[in-house]
Amino acid sequence: MLYYSTNKNSAKVDFREATIKGQAPDKGLYFPERIPQLDKTFLKEFKNKSKAAIAFEVIKPYVGNCIADDDLYQICEHTSNFDFPLVKITDSISSLELFHGPTLAFKDVGARFMSRCLGYFSKDNKREITVLVATSGDTGSAVANGFLGVEGVKVVILYPSGKVSKIQELQLTTLGQNITALEVQGTFDDCQQMVKQAFTDAEVNEKIFLTSANSINVARWLPQQFYYFFALQQWRHDEPPIISVPSGNFGNICAGLIAAVSGLPIKHFVAACNNNNAFVNFLATENFVAQPAVATISNAMDVGNPSNFVRVLELFTHDFKKIKNFINAYSIDDNETRKTMARVFEQHHYLLDPHGAVGFASLEKYLQVHVESKGMFFETAHPVKFENVVSEATGVPVTIPSALQQLLHLHKTSVSLNANYQELKDYLLA
Ligand SMILES: *Cc1c(COP(=O)(O)O)cnc(C)c1O
Repeated sequence: MLYYSTNKNSAKVDFREATIKGQAPDKGLYFPERIPQLDKTFLKEFKNKSKAAIAFEVIKPYVGNCIADDDLYQICEHTSNFDFPLVKITDSISSLELFHGPTLAFKDVGARFMSRCLGYFSKDNKREITVLVATSGDTGSAVANGFLGVEGVKVVILYPSGKVSKIQELQLTTLGQNITALEVQGTFDDCQQMVKQAFTDAEVNEKIFLTSANSINVARWLPQQFYYFFALQQWRHDEPPIISVPSGNFGNICAGLIAAVSGLPIKHFVAACNNNNAFVNFLATENFVAQPAVATISNAMDVGNPSNFVRVLELFTHDFKKIKNFINAYSIDDNETRKTMARVFEQHHYLLDPHGAVGFASLEKYLQVHVESKGMFFETAHPVKFENVVSEATGVPVTIPSALQQLLHLHKTSVSLNANYQELKDYLLA
């Protein structure tokens, strides 16, 4: 399998090079040159297979011969070795809980897969690799956790000061070793912009071997297909589900769209957004206008210019009608998010985090006009990651799991930067 750049001005590369490079030299995103079609027998039988076996079969065509089968299988086992339960909340709505990994958010899946791949590829690399990543909250901790102690790899994380939750911040500023956190006085979009600029800065790239670990990177993005399969494994209705995905950078939903285009039976997608509604407006007007990020209580989705939007276009060959027929999008504001958390707890005794609440509320809106349908939303983070917001909205204290208790006693270590590319450059070259 080869990957081309969405800007179409860079050479095609294989999985290894796409993973090591992160972004294409022409600033485009790498995209698989064809979408593999799932085998009919596999589609009949995958419900009885192990998670690792499914993951291996799904990802193998994308990896090609870049990783030996035995090693790839082990990476798949490591990536999927926690639970992904589908929990029924109402007759028509279930929650796919994606927060049972080590940092309590779905990004553990992509980060674990990518860190193992990069570790594999860096074995025969003489130069140290620096993973440079911007985070709106959960990427940073998942990537830091995945890469902690991986030899030959250094991790530099940019996060927007004051715009991530306390637990998120502690998760990414207390690890030490090969992990450094840069606290940027700006928004997530500023962080993302600074990272993007570093990737295209010739001087920096000559001196440092840089790669990204955002969903820009195919090794982070593509394994996010796995849990759509795990979801379908547990789906007990004849009719395929509607899947509502809390979306910010659109990596998660775009992975699901790829799985669907390969043949996984999903009836329809709902892009669940907060007040950052560039995609919602796009579906309404056919015009995509990037916007400055707005801060909300579902902060991991505070993205005004989603990187993976271009991949959605590419997947549907820029055919607006096709996109509109397969995806609905809703914008849920903070007030409605809070009310949803309160109501779902009161009526169904289920504690949502703010991102899951946006997913739930969006799915409800879709089902109000498609009353016969049933669906699921992705609960993308554990409510404890946003304990203040959740307990305030529901009146219920969120108990902190013991694994996180000790985190609260650790000291944050970060390097403060202004939202200014030169400062990042100086730091990297120092
Ligand atoms: C990152 C994140 C999202 C958004 O996912 P994208 O792939 O960026 O669309 C949603 N919820 C949580 C909890 C996240 O960490």
